[in-house]
Amino acid sequence: MVPRRPVAPQRAARHGVTGLRLLGLRLLLFHGILEDFPLRRIVPVMSLPPLRSSEHLHDVRYEIRGALARRAEQLEREGHEIVKLNIGNPGAFGFRMPGSMRVAVVENLHQADPYSHQKGIFAAREAVVMQQQSRGVMDVTADDVFIGNGVSELIMLAMRALLNPGDEVLVPSPDYPLWTASVVIHGAKAVHYPCRPERGFVPDPVEVERLVTPRTRALVVINPNNPTGAVYPRKTLAALADIARQRHLVFCADEIYDEMLYDGAEFVPAASLDDSLLCLSFGGLSKVYRACGLRVGWLVFSGEREHARDYIQAVELLASLRLCSNVPGQYAVQTALGGYQSIVDLTKPGGRLYATRAAVLDAVRRSKYLSVVPPQGAMYAFVKVHADRLSGGVEAFDDQAFALDLLERKHVLVAPGSSFNVPYRDHFRVTLLPDAEQMADVFGRIESLLDEYAAR
Ligand code: PLP
Repeated sequence: MVPRRPVAPQRAARHGVTGLRLLGLRLLLFHGILEDFPLRRIVPVMSLPPLRSSEHLHDVRYEIRGALARRAEQLEREGHEIVKLNIGNPGAFGFRMPGSMRVAVVENLHQADPYSHQKGIFAAREAVVMQQQSRGVMDVTADDVFIGNGVSELIMLAMRALLNPGDEVLVPSPDYPLWTASVVIHGAKAVHYPCRPERGFVPDPVEVERLVTPRTRALVVINPNNPTGAVYPRKTLAALADIARQRHLVFCADEIYDEMLYDGAEFVPAASLDDSLLCLSFGGLSKVYRACGLRVGWLVFSGEREHARDYIQAVELLASLRLCSNVPGQYAVQTALGGYQSIVDLTKPGGRLYATRAAVLDAVRRSKYLSVVPPQGAMYAFVKVHADRLSGGVEAFDDQAFALDLLERKHVLVAPGSSFNVPYRDHFRVTLLPDAEQMADVFGRIESLLDEYAAR
């Protein structure tokens, strides 16, 4: 066996290596020291060219799991306890999927060995159809539904089947960064339409329409929104749907947080707005049903589909190439979507998500430096730091540097706002998943760091 460590000087001398270094490999072999000398280690490093990654990935970012998260892991390995608020992973904060879903998976494990149909098992797709019907979307059948390994996979499939280099897609800013990545990775351009804090992070359809060009292929909405928690009014959604119909754009609605709503906010399903428009609705088990690890999402094609046959067949081709999605998890869909929706208990007054959201709003109200648009849905708050109240002012403040400092000194990990494709650098996102007490503690740590910045 070739040892992995470099040859020790004494041992090299013992074998006469130091004196014979220039005489080369054959002499070393003759000396019979191959086993001691790390040839495999040295030769490849000197002779192989660097292994470069695909150029398609050069502009692709997912900073939520990037350098800051790696530093947090390092600190944990050093024994520090880090409060990680950067990822919306309910199971990591003690949330469980409803027990009936777990039973549905276990009860069906005996028939989950084979690949399923590329679009998913019929029962799961049919359950999604029924959910659509209950929302007034009557023109879909199980044939129009694709089950995937989370919404993430389906976003990638939908964009891969649609885009050519140079195409453009209208994506919200801030966005869930997978949307931008899924466009850029296919050589297309993500054109970000602003969802401004002063408008409650609700987009202005007039501004959106101005960004449409002959190369625009799709318009993406995330509603309820990650990272802002905005829930779009019916009027806004209808105006966006009009733009998509008039300009022949595919209307993509990421509705993974569809039932996570606070204070009576109303969720309007995009597919229910206009049946003369091709609409792609995305939903899944990860958030509302707290089952990220099952990796189950769905994509529903609704509205005008006749002209889109080629596109839909391309999505099916891509689904076939990956054979099928995780089968055991698919058995939870029917149980999840039917009957009582336990997410209501978590989001209503007295519920855990509601209480944590209240703790954030309370802490921000009392803060000398922060403000927030109260989230109406989803499970995040997108908080603004008023850097003009800190010494050094707006110019000196940088959200990435702040997040790193907060991690190093206060052991709290947040996602800097600029990870979500916004042009400003004075926001950060926290998930509402910790309990209210922990959230109050986190905001205490944030305030004390900002106090230090103000006193400098
Ligand atoms: N879409 C949005 C808006 C999200 O926030 C997330 C995850 O955080 C996803 C999609 C991905 O979800 P999934 O776990 O179904 O892949």
